[in-house]
Order: sequence, then structure tokens, then C-alpha cells
Amino acid sequence: MAKEKEIKSIEDLPGVGPATAEKLRQAGYTTLEQVAVASPFELAELLGISADNAKKAIDAAKQATTINYLEASKVLERRLSIGKISTGSKGLDELLGGGVETNGITEAYGKFSSGKTQLGFQLSVNVQLPVGKGGLGGGTLFIDTESTFRPERIQEMAKAIGLDPKTVLDNIYVVRATTVEQQILTVERADKLITEKGIKLIVVDSLTSLFRAEFIGRGGLAERQQKLNAHVHKLQNLADTFNLAVYVTNQVIDNPAILFGDPTIPVGGNIIAHAATTRLYMRKSKEDKRIVRIVDSPNLPEGEVVIKITPEGIRD
Ligand code: ATP
Ligand code: MG
Repeated sequence: MAKEKEIKSIEDLPGVGPATAEKLRQAGYTTLEQVAVASPFELAELLGISADNAKKAIDAAKQATTINYLEASKVLERRLSIGKISTGSKGLDELLGGGVETNGITEAYGKFSSGKTQLGFQLSVNVQLPVGKGGLGGGTLFIDTESTFRPERIQEMAKAIGLDPKTVLDNIYVVRATTVEQQILTVERADKLITEKGIKLIVVDSLTSLFRAEFIGRGGLAERQQKLNAHVHKLQNLADTFNLAVYVTNQVIDNPAILFGDPTIPVGGNIIAHAATTRLYMRKSKEDKRIVRIVDSPNLPEGEVVIKITPEGIRD
């Protein structure tokens, strides 16, 4: 008896060949889960096949989709193994429940000069502190898409907390990405560096600028969102697999639809909103003061705190 083909990706579904798979991807169906919850009619219309055949593909996708149950006690065990990196400000650490968490993505969004990059530098330094002293005793992979990485600034921050500036720089691996592809590939291939160099923090500064520049206009929007989606999922995957922290920065755009209140919203829409575990909205205040607000976190209360950007780094 012929053994049935194992279904691992959308190509393996009955009636779906490479060309159909491509059509599915273009329309945003990249995983078996997404096909499994599609309606037969939308799929039939999209692919130009009968609703019966569409239903067959959907049923097969459902069969192939596994649900991993995890006892709540195991979930708690995982939560307890979560590490925290100090931001340099006690107030902000408290607001974050101890600092920037491993196993998740922390996003900082805000206008220019709001301190997003500075916080990325501070975390890259602090992660090198020992566990229990505000760090995780690990290194940083710093993906710089805006050419704003400044080793001199890292040295200043390292000296201020009594770390050897040279050692600190040696433990930060910088990738200057100039295209979306470079940015994506750096993350796709990060596994080796992470294990070999003991990386405990990945910074992507900024997550969205290249995506924005390369997919201009409405036409490119679906493709951009799809790629960005896959990219942040890979980041989350690394955070889970290696129990490391991911810190990403994001620009804001003016949303003309909001007439009252603060009209700035982060780039990337729902994709990043759903993927980020913690979102920080940073605003400039007087002089060196910045206001940081936690936005819709699953386990932290909403609130804001004032931090300062000093020559020594982020402080209360
Ligand atoms: P952008 O959207 O343009 O990338 P950003 O949110 O990343 O902006 P940062 O670069 O993090 O902004 O913040 C820049 C600010 O940090 C400067 O305006 C300055 O106030 C402060 N800053 C930078 N270096 C120092 C320093 N050595 N000492 C004190 N403050 C500094
Ligand atoms: Mg910046």
C-alpha cells in the first residue's frame, strides 16, 4: 500500500502544486494553519478551483495542523526562567516588571530623538552585566539599518557602570544592513552566532525603516506586511529557542484619521502590534527627559515613567 505523502507545508496539500502554492502565498496564506481556517469559497475563488477541491485542501491542512498543549505549570516554569535586562532606569525597570524580558520582543516606538537608539545601546551594554546585577552575562547582535550605531557612545555607557569598554565592544556584533534582504538574512542565519558567542540580546534598529523605503505605495503593502510578518516571527522564534531578549525600534507616522488625542501611530500596523510582547511609546519631554509609556502588555499594567538620557546613559 502506498504511504500517503506527509503534509509539512502548503505545497504538500492535495491539488496544490508549486504555482498554486505561490498564489496562496501571494494572498497571504503561507502556513498550513492559515489554510486550515480559510473558507472553501474564498479559497475556491482565489485559486479558480471547485469548492469541493478547496474543501479537500482545507481538510488536509486541518489534519496536518498539530496543536501543542502545555500544562499551565510548564508555562509557569518557562515564565520563571525568563531573564530581565536592566534599562539603566529603576523606574522604567519597575514599570517593565524588572527589565526587558527574554523570550519576547520589546518594541520602542516614537519620533526622532525620543531615545529609542539610546535605549538599544544601554541594553547592549547592560546585558553583559552578570545575572542578578541587571544583566544576563551575554552578548548582543546589533542590526543597524540606519547607520546610527556609535561605538564611542557604547564606551561611555560601559565606563559609567564600571565595565571594560573594550570587552563590552567585543561582545557586540554589529551588522550594518542596507537592504530588507540583508536584514532578513541576518536574522535567518543568526542561530550559529547566538550559540557560539552566547548572544542574549538582539537589537534591530530600526525594524521598519528598510521595509518602508523598499515597499513604497499601496501596491507593495501586502508584500511588505507579509515579509515583515515572517521576519518578526523568526525573531520571536529565536527569543523562544535561545531564551534571549529582542529589542526593536520603530518609527511613527501621522495617522490623519485621528482627530483628537495623539495622532502618531507606529509603522507596521497590526503585525508588530501582535508580535511584540511589550510596546513602549517614547516621547521627548524637556531637555534630557523622556516619557516612556507601556502600551497594551499582556501582564503589565499601563503606565508611564520619566527617564533621562545623560552622558552616562539612561537613568532615572
Ligand atoms: P531616531 O528616530 O532619529 O532614530 P531615536 O529615538 O533613536 O531617534 P536617539 O538617537 O536614541 O533617538 O536619541 C538621541 C538623543 O539622545 C539626542 O537628542 C540626545 O538628547 C541624547 N544623547 C545622545 N548622546 C548623548 C550623550 N552622549 N549624552 C547625553 N545625551 C545624549
Ligand atoms: Mg534611532
